[in-house]
Amino acid sequence: MTVFQERPMTYAKMRGLVSFLSALLKGKKVGFSDFLHKFVSSQQLYQNLDTEKILQRKSKLRRGKEEKSALSSVNTDASQTRPSDFDYLKVIGKGSFGKVLLARHRKQGRYYAVKVLQKQMIVKRKEQRHVMIERSVLLKGLQHPFLVGLHFSFQTSNTLYFVLDYVNGGELFYHLQREGSFPEPRAAFYAAEMAAALGYLHSLNIVYRDVKPENILLDSDGHVVLTDFGLCKEGVAKGGIMHTFCGTPEYLAPEVLQGHPYSPAVDWWGLGTVLFEMICGLPPFHSHSKLEMFQNILHAPLQLPSSVSEAAHSLLEGLLEKDVSKRLGESQDIVELQEHPFFAFINWDDLLARKIRPPFIPKVAGPCDVSYIDPAFTRQPVPASVNERWQAAESCEAFLGFSYMNPAERVAAEPVS
Ligand code: ATP
Ligand code: MG
Repeated sequence: MTVFQERPMTYAKMRGLVSFLSALLKGKKVGFSDFLHKFVSSQQLYQNLDTEKILQRKSKLRRGKEEKSALSSVNTDASQTRPSDFDYLKVIGKGSFGKVLLARHRKQGRYYAVKVLQKQMIVKRKEQRHVMIERSVLLKGLQHPFLVGLHFSFQTSNTLYFVLDYVNGGELFYHLQREGSFPEPRAAFYAAEMAAALGYLHSLNIVYRDVKPENILLDSDGHVVLTDFGLCKEGVAKGGIMHTFCGTPEYLAPEVLQGHPYSPAVDWWGLGTVLFEMICGLPPFHSHSKLEMFQNILHAPLQLPSSVSEAAHSLLEGLLEKDVSKRLGESQDIVELQEHPFFAFINWDDLLARKIRPPFIPKVAGPCDVSYIDPAFTRQPVPASVNERWQAAESCEAFLGFSYMNPAERVAAEPVS
């Protein structure tokens, strides 16, 4: 995920903001985390600011005393969570920086997906500190029926942990591979739920940037859940990726491949690639040769089988438009998709309220069912290192402020008097 916003941030605005924040912190004795939460959820304030830039400038200004004390109070709070609070049961996925494990909270008994990231691997990449801060800040403001919920994040000296809802209906990719392709109404349902999540992120000035079938899960009711916290992937940093890119480019937009600046429209391209794959069984512009695929994404015209309906055809052409300025969603974002005939049968209010019955309901026996997880993962032994001995790791500069406890968890953890 990435925050987009290129509005100028003058020094005067910055000063004004800092005094506003100091007053807020002093006056209300709120923690830095709470403040950031407010900051992120405050649309009006947020509209004019670039969080990452502010955080960078703050760190340059060496932060005021109030902030320091506020930070330490947050850390004490969130750092109550440690690896030994969980039993790690199964490996359920693999990410760029580590594994994802099914875990049970020992006291609560609840099941979670714990994404475990190796700090060393993250630090090797550029600007990770800011990315991490940005992540932890942004995640606090995100609440949406089709976005995975974050409950805690904490760290040890070597490892970062994200404790997320365990979403156990399987990856969309898993179902797609088994079935080859989906009938258009089923594909439209998933695409609409994805679009709702992406439109919500865009309304918060966040670009998801990594739409691909592995990052789209189904929950036990069959609704879409976008997971993934967008830790900067190798090659997708600013300045172009053509030369450093080592993964598969099939879901990347032309502007990303070319290293051009990107906008939220990059996600509408991503949605187009996933929709294409759901309907046709293969990603668009596919080729066994990576180089050819690059070329196809950049230059080849979109080709669709004749079996594809007219509405789907027109939507895919709109989303997979190479020229960003002409791409569907570029000017009015999700509204342009909502008005498209392909989604004519979707009532968007019902969709958001999860009232539309999913076209497929996963058969899961309970909250810890792993039947839809690839056995290639579940057969792997849980690495012993996840139970790494806990120590006060917040002093680690690179990930200062990473730890987080969802306010709901905080309430639950408070002793009843
Ligand atoms: P990125 O795409 O930013 O590199 P990643 O690929 O490193 O992230 P994720 O996509 O978050 O990591 O997770 C890897 C895999 O783990 C996912 O494809 C998914 O199969 C599984 N997974 C992740 N989060 C969850 C979750 N909350 N519930 C169930 N499975 C999950
Ligand atoms: Mg992923």
